[in-house]
Amino acid sequence: MQLDTLIVNGIIVTVNPDFEIIGNGWVGIKDGQMVAVQPHRPGYLLPGALETVDAKGGIVMPGLVNTHTHLPMTLFRGLADDLPLMTWLNDHIFPAEATFIQPESVYAGTLLACTELLLSGTTTCCDGYFYEHFSAQAVLLSGLRAVLGQGVIDFPAPGVPDPSENTSVARNFIQRWQNVDPLIQPSIFCHAPYTCSEKTLREAKEIARSTGSLYQIHVAETRSEYELIKERHHMSPIAYLESLNILDSRTLLVHAIWLDDADIDIVARSGAAISHAPESAMKLGSGIARIQDYIQAEIPVGLGTDGCASNNNQDMFQEMDITAKLHKVSTLNPQAMKSRTVIEMATIAGARAIGMDRTIGSLEPGKQADIIIIDTQAPHLTPLYHPESHIVYAAKGSDVRDVMISGKWRVKNRGLVSLNLDEILDQARAEGKRIQQWRTHLEPT
Ligand SMILES: [Zn+2]
Repeated sequence: MQLDTLIVNGIIVTVNPDFEIIGNGWVGIKDGQMVAVQPHRPGYLLPGALETVDAKGGIVMPGLVNTHTHLPMTLFRGLADDLPLMTWLNDHIFPAEATFIQPESVYAGTLLACTELLLSGTTTCCDGYFYEHFSAQAVLLSGLRAVLGQGVIDFPAPGVPDPSENTSVARNFIQRWQNVDPLIQPSIFCHAPYTCSEKTLREAKEIARSTGSLYQIHVAETRSEYELIKERHHMSPIAYLESLNILDSRTLLVHAIWLDDADIDIVARSGAAISHAPESAMKLGSGIARIQDYIQAEIPVGLGTDGCASNNNQDMFQEMDITAKLHKVSTLNPQAMKSRTVIEMATIAGARAIGMDRTIGSLEPGKQADIIIIDTQAPHLTPLYHPESHIVYAAKGSDVRDVMISGKWRVKNRGLVSLNLDEILDQARAEGKRIQQWRTHLEPT
């Protein structure tokens, strides 16, 4: 069989069910899928291929799955920091969104986000925002694989001035983007149980169920949210969602920090998944999710960066590093979160959380060829004893040399293959200038 691409001379971290690591192996790709993931055997004649790529001893692994993004918020990176969630949202982010979020800015901010994700090894993201139609256009151009959720909230939002239309706008978005491209899955994203009414939450779930889409929601993010929902509904945020019949295997609970034992049990029984975004939760002082307990309860847990206004980057390598260390220090146990577990969260478990583990998340024949190559020819990656250790504790997004999605190279030798980075940066700078002028006007010095 003639292959399209053959990747040779790599340390292959498969993230298959046995977490098999092949010290020197090759990957064969045909029609966008992996057809072979094999150790190198001296004397064995490799199949012919249109293209052979030498990993030069670098790490070959599944593309990273970022289970929580707000792509256009790259434009708000560094706009307002060091604030509690509610002050940050109400005094800074919501006003900035009301003033600046338009189709053009969503498109420009999303393209900027896509370049950052691709260059740092993310091949799939799970997103939610407003004007998601324009995000989808930018994502489609970038070649990223994505679940894209139209945001739903019960007050006037960018593109949805009348909140009574929030769920119908989301339904239209899903219908518009279903079956457009295999890389794009439309979804619905309810902002939170404290910004959406019971009616909105239920309607959104009905739309998700009837279209087979992923239902995303920020929930139990802060203690104040937990207390607010308890006061309003006399139950925890998780129990509240359960009471509305929202939790099932197509529900992604984002943050899910303030869960008690009963909540963990509810989530585990429902089949719902959790997106863990520790850097954002640390920056906003939201709390520390009991991730080890969630994993023990067999809840699918993926990693996410959250939007750039609360992180402030989309580097999944940094997220992995922080995840491993946060759970060690919070439990005073260096064995609490091992590098393999964290890599799984950033790949196969993340894929499971968004319903894609049959097609992506590991390097196995029959799966989509979403592959990254990490250049290990660097002082901070030398020598190399345990690849999984380097991935979590030493590598950075900037060490990613090549990125393939569905068999197509999107990054080669640290450069974007099909996007013009200079143009995208210029456009983002222009948007940034407009935002800066507004800020200067608001805060005269
Ligand atoms: Zn978020």
